[in-house]
Amino acid sequence: MSYDPDNIFAKILRGEIPSFKVYEDDETYCFMDIMPRSDGHCLVIPKTPCRNILDASEAQLAACMATVKKVANAAKTAFGADGITLQQFSETAGGQEVFHLHFHVHPRHEGVSLRAPGVMGDMEQIKAHAEAISAAIG
Ligand code: 5GP
Repeated sequence: MSYDPDNIFAKILRGEIPSFKVYEDDETYCFMDIMPRSDGHCLVIPKTPCRNILDASEAQLAACMATVKKVANAAKTAFGADGITLQQFSETAGGQEVFHLHFHVHPRHEGVSLRAPGVMGDMEQIKAHAEAISAAIG
């Protein structure tokens, strides 16, 4: 399967679709999921194209993991979370819906389940959550 440069996350990277930015560096971008399954649910993506973990380069994966760690610690602090769940889905059979590599970062609290997927969040709240995580990165 080839990379589609018109996928939603490629459009976000090009600034054609707005997003709530949490963090960026030269190689990666982190922004909020607009259908959050947890408070603080954000996504880490490489700035260069690849579909998923199956075609990603080691450099893309290493850059994403460094950002995941940074954002995970910040989100844990920002939300007073007990832990973090990291999700990555590859290809349709693996549960992937947007075909630009991404890692879901979820702050988790003891006894609180992830919410159902596909439910649009409150944009003001998502914006505030992005700012809280961003501030905890420093
Ligand atoms: P996947 O199943 O591919 O791992 O998840 C794709 C994720 O992208 C879903 O959690 C979905 O809520 C999120 N998503 C879909 N469209 C948009 C969008 O336009 N903006 C943002 N920020 N997230 C999106």
